[in-house]
Amino acid sequence: MNRSNKPGSGPGSFPPAKRPGFPARLDSAGLAPAPATAVPTRAVRSSRTPSAAAVQITAGQGIGLDSQAVRASMVRKLASQGVSDSQVLKAMGQVERHRFVDSALAAQAYEDTSLPIGLGQTISKPSVVARMLDLLMQGRTQPLGRVLEIGTGCGYQAALLAQLATEVYSIERLRGLHEKARENLRTLRLANLHLLLGDGMVGYPKGAPYAAIIAAAGGQAVPPAWTEQLAPGGRLVAPVHTPGGSQALVVIDHTPGGLRQTVLESVHFVPLMSGVV
Ligand code: SAH
Repeated sequence: MNRSNKPGSGPGSFPPAKRPGFPARLDSAGLAPAPATAVPTRAVRSSRTPSAAAVQITAGQGIGLDSQAVRASMVRKLASQGVSDSQVLKAMGQVERHRFVDSALAAQAYEDTSLPIGLGQTISKPSVVARMLDLLMQGRTQPLGRVLEIGTGCGYQAALLAQLATEVYSIERLRGLHEKARENLRTLRLANLHLLLGDGMVGYPKGAPYAAIIAAAGGQAVPPAWTEQLAPGGRLVAPVHTPGGSQALVVIDHTPGGLRQTVLESVHFVPLMSGVV
């Protein structure tokens, strides 16, 4: 993997596979979805959804002062949909999503919709981002320790993670997006966020073990490197393909008894690909 900012340089040696028997595939028996904790995949558009008209565009500035109010409205909606962690809601209220998308799309930034970010990739809709972060924070009273994000994209979720964790390593395989994220994040000066250019399929051993791992792209299975780099007590949240050809959100907890996998609601993420382009 190529790294292009601090700390260190180049990949470290890989830890030996400790749990070779764990496939983390969805074709194993007994992995029924757990709808009890799931939120709806398709967000219902309510009259409280901030509309383009509610967002003031000011020349040269993108969205004006109103964006705070529009974000507050988005946060209320997320809370009503079941996002409960106060730190997640606070971060969603603070990070300006409109700064991570093209200015032509800025007016839609606080609608619950995914948006193109270039090179065929998308930024996930806010309800899915908040849902995944809520899953990472569940039951925690302290901030997360070190976190690994696979799929930096435009850097929006990385900025949120930087509010929730002591250290964030975010990997992107597309150089164009890695550079775009760096540009988007530059003014935020998040000293605890490390942007990496590389293939996230192999994780990032140098930062391991991680209290949390979150993927924004879905593969056929969870790569073994991710579970190997998950700290005891840590949690991984990722989209994974189901045998039926769709994708589901999967949570893997590193418990004293081993890895425990829970399959949640269906989701639609861009594919997890290998190699750096
Ligand atoms: N969290 C991002 C979402 C980006 S979309 C955001 O807030 O914008 C998912 C990203 O995962 C894409 O940019 C895609 O290029 C990246 N991706 C896919 N496979 C990858 C891999 N193996 N390693 C690193 N990034 C990967």
